[in-house]
Amino acid sequence: MTLSRSTDHQEIRDAVRALCSQFPDEYHRRIDSERAYPEAFVEALTRAGWMAALIPEAYGGSGLGLTEASVIMEEINRSGGNSGACHGQMYNMNTLIRHGSEEQRRRYLPKIASGALRLQSMGVTEPTTGTDTTQLKTTAVRKGDRYVINGQKVWISRVQHSDLMILLARTTPLAEVAKKSEGLSIFLVDIKAAMGAGMEVRPIPNMVNHETNELFFDNLEIPAENLIGDEGQGFRYILTGLNAERALIAAECIGDGYWFTDRVTRYVTERTVFGRPIGQNQGVQFPIAEAFIEIEAANLMRYRACALYDAGQPCGTEANMAKYLAAKASWEAANACLQFHGGFGFASEYDIERKFRETRLYQVAPISTNLILSYVAEHVLGLPRSF
Ligand SMILES: Cc1cc2nc3c(=O)[nH]c(=O)nc-3n(C[C@H](O)[C@H](O)[C@H](O)COP(=O)(O)OP(=O)(O)OC[C@H]3O[C@@H](n4cnc5c(N)ncnc54)[C@H](O)[C@@H]3O)c2cc1C
Repeated sequence: MTLSRSTDHQEIRDAVRALCSQFPDEYHRRIDSERAYPEAFVEALTRAGWMAALIPEAYGGSGLGLTEASVIMEEINRSGGNSGACHGQMYNMNTLIRHGSEEQRRRYLPKIASGALRLQSMGVTEPTTGTDTTQLKTTAVRKGDRYVINGQKVWISRVQHSDLMILLARTTPLAEVAKKSEGLSIFLVDIKAAMGAGMEVRPIPNMVNHETNELFFDNLEIPAENLIGDEGQGFRYILTGLNAERALIAAECIGDGYWFTDRVTRYVTERTVFGRPIGQNQGVQFPIAEAFIEIEAANLMRYRACALYDAGQPCGTEANMAKYLAAKASWEAANACLQFHGGFGFASEYDIERKFRETRLYQVAPISTNLILSYVAEHVLGLPRSF
């Protein structure tokens, strides 16, 4: 495991940085203010092959691991961009690669690798059950060679900028399964075919420029062949995606964290008040140093989570802990960055308020910090279960 942040995966870092440098702060600021999708940026990442990093070479990708994918996401955020526009493809990919059939892999992966299809969406969260995923109410009922989907999802990202969505639905009623995590299944939904044919999409404007939607399913029919893996095992499969998502978002927070510490370090060195640089005051230095230490520590856990994932080992604990540590560290860094820019931190043209909003999301999504603490308390430390 390479630990030096300046040398690890340098080739990937240099190449992603070079691409990102073509999309400066002004680009991301404009996209944010217009609440637009960074189409040109995502297109450039796709053309350069970065969005196909996890696809095996046999299917037209570059066959890299989650570690390398996380470096790509980190560099996007470190450059001032927001991987939230495109990270879905990375964490959804392994669900399809690891649990999809050979027929599904052959049908979809080459097209995703070429950019002809996007797999950017994952529909799990529901309005009435929230984090309590196994209680979700959306059902998929088999009728001949189709499944009929009914129910509702909320907060589903990038639906309008994706061709495919991985959907989690209940195929066996809760009352008929031995364990509540059984009887759930995952499906590949062709978004364009579903829109207006049983799936309604209502955008939810929110604090960040992150496209989110409410989805309503009213007898949406999807081909039975779109079931991924075995019926009833979907919860186990979706964890592949969720663990990858947590490790990737940890990397994104680390990228944010370095962006904030780089910016604030530069600013407090230059900004002179009371006749000296404000960065000469320990009251200014210490919160920045503390955030930097926490980012570096989170980075170690991120690499550990990714290494376990790539080795096919259980990594739920490490992925959760990496996400917890990194989201906390980037938030501390964001606070310090905003604070020591004084009034200027609030000016849009400094990009800090934008990055501040973006990194705040990761205290809540894709899993809230409380739920990670609960996971560690109960599943790692063996404390009595609270739910
Ligand atoms: C911008 C954005 C994008 C998203 N994208 C997607 C997506 O693409 N796909 C998808 O499926 N979902 C998505 N989500 C949903 C996201 O994963 C959920 O919002 C998140 O998991 C929290 O669920 P909830 O909002 O239902 O909160 P709730 O489950 O209602 O919880 C609210 C808060 O209560 C606290 N809490 C709840 N239960 C407990 C407990 N037992 N102990 C202690 N504290 C508790 C936590 O602090 C939590 O933050 C997105 C959300 C946002 C905001």
